[in-house]
Amino acid sequence: MDDKAMKECVVVTGGAGFLGSHLCRRLVGEGHQVVCVDNFQTGRRANIESLLGNPLFSLLRHDVVNPLHYDLRPTQIYNLACAASPRLYQADPVHTLRTCVYGAFNLLELGRRTGARVLQASTSEVYGDPHVHPQSESYRGNVNMVGVRSCYDEGKRCAETLFSDYGRRKRVVVKIARIFNTYGPGMAQDDGRVVSNFVTQALKGQDLTIYGDGTQTRSLCYVDDLIEGLVSLMNSVDTFQGPVNLGNPTETTVLDIAMQVRRLAGARVSFVFEPRPADDPEQRCPDILLARRHLGWTPRTGMEEGLRKTVEYFSGVLGQTSAGTVSGISAGSARA
Ligand code: NAD
Ligand code: UDP
Repeated sequence: MDDKAMKECVVVTGGAGFLGSHLCRRLVGEGHQVVCVDNFQTGRRANIESLLGNPLFSLLRHDVVNPLHYDLRPTQIYNLACAASPRLYQADPVHTLRTCVYGAFNLLELGRRTGARVLQASTSEVYGDPHVHPQSESYRGNVNMVGVRSCYDEGKRCAETLFSDYGRRKRVVVKIARIFNTYGPGMAQDDGRVVSNFVTQALKGQDLTIYGDGTQTRSLCYVDDLIEGLVSLMNSVDTFQGPVNLGNPTETTVLDIAMQVRRLAGARVSFVFEPRPADDPEQRCPDILLARRHLGWTPRTGMEEGLRKTVEYFSGVLGQTSAGTVSGISAGSARA
């Protein structure tokens, strides 16, 4: 890390990941000095390549499970560090839990020492497999605390507890965003989440893998909308700490996502039905009344537009890596 990071800055942990890299670009674009803290567990250099030569951007390779003993002077800290794909956060569950809990603690301590406000990227997974629908922030959830997803779900719940206690004791101005499924350009093609899987499969001419019968639902938020919500929350009045749901309330079945992706990718492929992963939530949809009321925030990008942009992005990525396989498929050229 160089001297420029020692100036007043905004820290983004997980800044080399999907959401973090979008956030770093947004903040640098607004003229902020940004320090990206990442251990590159799931993050990629390609995500931040365009920022590396920028004088407003610094990279600090660091695992947030360890305290940050650097001479940083942040005014704001966005804590996004944590693998978000179920396959990836389950790969090393103990590290995931340590990332969620120790990471939250270490960033809150940095906030306490420096006076920076700290925003936690929490998740709709704190609701587990919900019995209440749509999910509002007052719902306390239905999490299997000994299941394969619990390293993430319980880790994020514990992080919310830490944030709430630091906030209550007035040690730090805290903000908690409960993020619902977000997608868009910059996702890793191999990260295993539904949109990246379907789009890359469709573009490669492979059958789309639907887990279960595809009737389970998700509500997909386009990345630009989500980033807008995070920035609005960070800059909201001190007294509004959330938790607040950030997501697109348009609920869609997984089967419908598959059909839309196949059409937009113009792919002549079928669906293969595979077993549902353990504890896979059946239904998920955010109630975003609180975000509308306190942040004036609402998602603007429809699924057709968002998926089209995502198909375009992966078309470019796959075109570079395996030109032969995907040549001839252009985003939006529906053939089906
Ligand atoms: P991602 O996996 O693309 O990015 C996570 C980033 O955190 C990566 O760059 C990774 O290397 C880094 N990281 C992981 N563990 C770390 C550690 N111990 N120390 C330092 N860096 C570490 O995931 P994403 O989709 O960008 O998600 C970002 C955040 O948003 C996560 O905290 C996730 O829980 C939360 N979130 C995302 C979604 C979504 O749909 N994308 C939904 C809910 C919550
Ligand atoms: N899913 C699927 N096929 C895939 C990847 C995911 O059917 O190739 C399903 C998965 O079982 C879940 C939904 O899509 O019901 C969303 O999965 P994802 O891993 O993207 O996110 P999460 O389960 O964390 O919401």
